[in-house]
Amino acid sequence: MKTQAQVVVIGGGVVGASVLYHLTLAGWTDVMMVERRELTHGSTWHSAGGMHTLNGDPNVAALQRYTVELYDKIQAESGRDCGIHMTGGLQLADTPERMDYLRMAHARGRYLGMETELVSPKEAHELVPFLDPKYFVGAMYDKHEGHVDPSGVTHAYAECAQQRGAEINKYVWVHDITRAADGTWDLHVHDTRQNQDLGIINCEHFVNAGGLWAREVGRMTGLELPILAMEHMYLITEEVPQLEEWRQSSKMSGFHVVDLGGEMYMREEGNSLLLGTYERKGVPWAPHQTDWSFGAQLLTPDLERIGENLAVGFNHFPIFQEIGIKDTINGPFTFAPDGNPLIGPVKGQPGHWLACGVMAGLSQGGGVGLSMANWMTEGDPGFDIWGMDNARFGDWATPRYTNSKVRENYGRRFRITFPNEELPDAREHMQSPIHDRLESHNAVWGASYGLEVALWFQTHGKAEENVTFRRSNAFDVVAEEVAAVRNGVGIFETTGYAKYEVTGTGARAWLDGLLTNNIPPAGRLALTPMLNHQGKIIGDFTVGCLTDALGDERFMIFGSGAAQQYHERWFREQLRVASPAGGDVSLRVCGNELTGLSIAGPNARVVLDELTDFDVSNDEFGFLDFRQTWVGSVPCMVGRVTFTGDLGYEIWCAASFQQQLFDTLFEAGRPHGMRLFGLRALDSMRLDKGWGSWGTEYRPIYDPYEANMGWMVRLGDESKSDFVGRNAAEAAKQAGPKRKLVLFEMDAGTGDEAADCIGNEPIWHNGPDGNAVVGWVTSGGYAHHSEKSIAMGYVPAVHATSDGPWEIEVLGVMRSATRLTEAPFDPSGARMRS
Ligand SMILES: Cc1cc2nc3c(=O)[nH]c(=O)nc-3n(C[C@H](O)[C@H](O)[C@H](O)COP(=O)(O)OP(=O)(O)OC[C@H]3O[C@@H](n4cnc5c(N)ncnc54)[C@H](O)[C@@H]3O)c2cc1C
Repeated sequence: MKTQAQVVVIGGGVVGASVLYHLTLAGWTDVMMVERRELTHGSTWHSAGGMHTLNGDPNVAALQRYTVELYDKIQAESGRDCGIHMTGGLQLADTPERMDYLRMAHARGRYLGMETELVSPKEAHELVPFLDPKYFVGAMYDKHEGHVDPSGVTHAYAECAQQRGAEINKYVWVHDITRAADGTWDLHVHDTRQNQDLGIINCEHFVNAGGLWAREVGRMTGLELPILAMEHMYLITEEVPQLEEWRQSSKMSGFHVVDLGGEMYMREEGNSLLLGTYERKGVPWAPHQTDWSFGAQLLTPDLERIGENLAVGFNHFPIFQEIGIKDTINGPFTFAPDGNPLIGPVKGQPGHWLACGVMAGLSQGGGVGLSMANWMTEGDPGFDIWGMDNARFGDWATPRYTNSKVRENYGRRFRITFPNEELPDAREHMQSPIHDRLESHNAVWGASYGLEVALWFQTHGKAEENVTFRRSNAFDVVAEEVAAVRNGVGIFETTGYAKYEVTGTGARAWLDGLLTNNIPPAGRLALTPMLNHQGKIIGDFTVGCLTDALGDERFMIFGSGAAQQYHERWFREQLRVASPAGGDVSLRVCGNELTGLSIAGPNARVVLDELTDFDVSNDEFGFLDFRQTWVGSVPCMVGRVTFTGDLGYEIWCAASFQQQLFDTLFEAGRPHGMRLFGLRALDSMRLDKGWGSWGTEYRPIYDPYEANMGWMVRLGDESKSDFVGRNAAEAAKQAGPKRKLVLFEMDAGTGDEAADCIGNEPIWHNGPDGNAVVGWVTSGGYAHHSEKSIAMGYVPAVHATSDGPWEIEVLGVMRSATRLTEAPFDPSGARMRS
């Protein structure tokens, strides 16, 4: 066994094996894997091996498709039988809402190149005669589904990796991890067969692919990973004679069915049937500590627990009433709070990588391995893997939070989450100081990065939103909130934004090398993207500069709240690798200790004027001005900017002052018609302005020229130093964008049938080559002020100035769309600038 390697992968399950394989494929061969038992001896060996491409996040869906398509390749390369059964799969809907969900998934699949098909219950029954069509309203067929042999797949990955130079060591347990003086890692290993100490393996990188023990491996470096294992059961019937008859007559090799209403999956297993279910009241396994002595073992089945689901299953698939159950498998596997994997580099621990929390290793393992290898070897995952990045959770995702959310997620595995649905578990986890005040105004709450945020304020009854793919009961109230801002003044809580403070003598130079726009002088704000080395957008910030009494500069960065850990990780890494010469830099993540309120609308200035001692006229406190001051008697930072696109201010104060600030502003605003507004109204107003936002229009797969942000990238500015991504941005500019972000007004229909875009709808263009899907919607919704249903999305640059005809497919309906050449609201920016 080597005692030194560039990379050590900890864990020989399907995920670790895939990471190892993809690293060697990327050309890194000084790589090794350590496994404390035999390969697959975590959760992999008892997996049902099902694979499918459907996922709520289309980017994850694309990586699942990659995984499914990889099996033929590794089987051929390794000579190992992966037991591939590409049977095709059916997702069954038993209600119109579930059918809407399938229509949406089907439409999304179009721009990802997925070949799904919507079928009637009768057609579904023809494909799989074991289901009773009377329980269903329709189904989606995907030919890229089936099942594999989990052990075969894991060994095939391992074999291919070994052929390319990787070393695999079984019965080697990593029992501790320490940091060497030179910043590399020492893995302390033990031979579990001989029960003897093996000393240390030193490595530059290690990957935690510890599966059922990933949490324990994390603890070795002080991390408490938000993952938890759940017990999962599936049963296998006695032999079913009808299966052979069906094979003969249908000429099909097998089938795979997901019954969304019954919350179960079913397929054939040899000459038997396999039925698995995700019961509502799932049971966590090893909630606090996974015993190292646990091996290739099963848990005691508890059929009573899944009895309710089985009763539904036996109706939906009547054949189960005729045959006996031969075997019941109960095994544990891990989940993150939202059910997606937890991958990528660990903040503040260079060389420490995660590839864990993978709940569908046979559907996702390949994509996880590929993006991990890209990330480690190229510095970028190469795909939009935000949905899997471990940075989407912060330290607030405590074990109890995780326990609650994982159980919720498990019980909802096959349930629809509507686009406006806020899930109930682990709520009120973090609250800002004015939570009770907003509650008393009937706030309807959502959760963002663990914090309760007001979505809108109900005025007509119970503070609840009905969940739907169409317009909810929030629609009319949000229209009132928008009107209050556009015609008077509104107040909105901004505590959920991410806030960072950068200080030190090297702060300006460091920021100049990090952000693409000019860093503002003291007293000013600037809007700026941040790029990675590939020139793609990894941040979209407002940066402000203030000076203290001694004249030292202090910078504030405001960005997306959900990306706080993602950005902090990048900032800290850049500080580590690119500390500016001749100055110190200190970064503080302000978190919820710095709270915020924003007032916006034509009356915002007069409200502020009553509470401040400085001249708030446009001449003295103009657009993008920024100052340290007092509002009432509260010490604050005030910036002349808001995301509403209107005249407005963002006001930041310490959490201990937020209640007072809120009361002061609200009282002063009352005579001017001040009204609370929430995130939904804010989103409506930014759509009115045609502004993109982080996580939808701005993501690491787009460059600034595609995203219409080129004006904030200072390539030719002599005062601007070199910055991360500059060369790539210059090359992208010269080459010209391949796609462009475009704004549309869409005919969303009327009455109860009206449906706005929510994101990921395919965009159709009827050009010289015919009518075809050319792009996708990134976000959309109703812009109440301009009374337009707005969609934003990316289309090929060659079509970006075309007048169409354009159509957007929303819930299976083709809606005509008009490309807008300017924002519906205040395109010149006169309102926000004057
Ligand atoms: C009953 C059941 C049915 C399932 N059905 C499906 C399905 O149909 N489709 C699907 O895609 N997924 C399914 N899954 C889930 C699937 O099994 C998991 O997603 C997958 O096994 C995760 O693989 P992994 O490599 O992350 O973890 P694991 O398989 O748990 O592998 C982790 C490995 O790391 C090793 N290890 C841990 N710590 C150390 C250490 N410190 N030192 C050395 N080695 C260490 C362990 O021994 C283990 O072998 C099912 C799971 C169960 C339980």
